[in-house]
Amino acid sequence: MTVKLTSFGGCSCVTGSMHLLDLSDEMGYPMKILLDAGSFQGLNAGEKNSCLPAELNPMDINYILISHAHLDHIGRLPLLVSRGFHGKIICTSATRDISFILMDNMVKIQNSDSDFERDKDIGPISEKNIEMTKRLFVPIRKEYGKLASSDEKFVVTFINAEHIAGSASIYIEKPIKLLYTGDLGGSRSSLHKIPVPPKGGIDYLIVESTYGNRLIGKSDSMVLVNAINDIKENRGRLLIPILAIDRAEEILALLKSLNVEETVYLDSPMALDVLSIYTANSFVKLTEKFNRVQIKNRNLNADQVYYSFRPKNFIEVSKNTKLVPNCIILSSSGMLEGGRILKYLPGILEYPNNIILFTSYLGKGTLGRRILDGEVKVEASVRKMDGISSHADKNDIIEYISKFSYLPKMVFIVHGELDASENLKKEIEGLFGISTIIPEYNVEYELPNVNVNESERRRVVTSTKSTKNKGEGIVDDFDDGMSVIEHKDFTPRRR
Ligand SMILES: [Zn+2]
Repeated sequence: MTVKLTSFGGCSCVTGSMHLLDLSDEMGYPMKILLDAGSFQGLNAGEKNSCLPAELNPMDINYILISHAHLDHIGRLPLLVSRGFHGKIICTSATRDISFILMDNMVKIQNSDSDFERDKDIGPISEKNIEMTKRLFVPIRKEYGKLASSDEKFVVTFINAEHIAGSASIYIEKPIKLLYTGDLGGSRSSLHKIPVPPKGGIDYLIVESTYGNRLIGKSDSMVLVNAINDIKENRGRLLIPILAIDRAEEILALLKSLNVEETVYLDSPMALDVLSIYTANSFVKLTEKFNRVQIKNRNLNADQVYYSFRPKNFIEVSKNTKLVPNCIILSSSGMLEGGRILKYLPGILEYPNNIILFTSYLGKGTLGRRILDGEVKVEASVRKMDGISSHADKNDIIEYISKFSYLPKMVFIVHGELDASENLKKEIEGLFGISTIIPEYNVEYELPNVNVNESERRRVVTSTKSTKNKGEGIVDDFDDGMSVIEHKDFTPRRR
């Protein structure tokens, strides 16, 4: 009796996360589950996002469990639906809401007349296709919770992964104990906390490795403070490229915590839509780092939470908005590779009293990276603020594993470039002595369900060399804000 795991993306790369779990042997009837259905970015992405391997028949998949609403985790849902998937897409309600915004945006981009907006990498999608995909979404009823099939042979819990609003690690408790982390968050966001693994322990772990070989530095908000002071002195403008999901909210919360006097413009329809999802989900809260806007109680109403994100003089940019001097503009895309931010570049970059402040990763060859590296000469001051991240770094991941109540039998390392995955593999094997696999694309791995006594399981005793941040290690915090519900959304489908 074995469970089989096959990856169709997100293996030795950071995009296209999609992992097939075949639970049929254990369940006694056909049961195939997809963990995420992300699209590829980068080399040959258009081609990869347009077809599926013969071994993956969407009509055979019963459920798709989604960890979070980033395109590299949901972008191939419309493709799967167009190829016959008609099961349920299960996720948290915030993930559903943000996924809808992203999918609407996919259609908008494909129908756009503007060259910088259209994206050939998305693959073929249509409005009808998106509508059909949306109809299959079944959000779990509360923020995070437990679901079971009616025969209770399959039980899964969504646990807060603290990556973006609604993000979850997927903990399959039956028929085997398996945790798929999705993307894990870390301690470098004022909006999220340090994620905590399930208390029950697991036999198999599928862990992300985006930062499997890197550490993220401490956030330095003084860079932002200095930039604001400088534009005040020089009557300049500060342009901050943002990511529409999470980074916009993070920067707004920071600006509010700094009590800025300047007018703050947010020009990104998608960021505004996502902001409304963040504000409607009261589980998003700010940590102690920003005391002035700290939200202690998760049961705040939406208005209070919304207010917490908005600095004074917050303005949503519309067609007729005229920018005042001495202002802060937030717009996307973060790497200046498209989006509304392009229209601000001439007015900002050509004047020495202005500042462009990058806060996110800038890929090689992107306009943002070339400006930062000085390859593109500009008059404005070019600055970078490091340390804001919605991702866990290498030490955070090791720390996360060290919190398991017993060590998993096997670890699959996914969602990382090969050198990042290989480095994490080495660290996990060295520190914990667990056998680890970096799965190859479209190769089936067997996960035998060996019944081991709880007492026989090796407990985690390793003391990691990870850098500990203040406040880390609060395992008891697990239940905070977690509303565990039992309901039976999974009905076995017999063919
Ligand atoms: Zn993500």
